[in-house]
Amino acid sequence: MAPATHTCTCGAVLQYRHDLEKRPGGITAEWTCSDCGTPVPGMVAEKIKHQHPS
Ligand SMILES: [Zn+2]
Repeated sequence: MAPATHTCTCGAVLQYRHDLEKRPGGITAEWTCSDCGTPVPGMVAEKIKHQHPS
């Protein structure tokens, strides 16, 4: 399976867990870009948060 990536509106390419920042929310936590805080779509964040640099 190809690694998931997400290009943020700030231009950062999010690919690994450390590229995301977890923001505690209500029922589901919200994941945001660690650079600018823009929310990352949940489906994509779910994949990215399991990816770590080898
Ligand atoms: Zn960003």
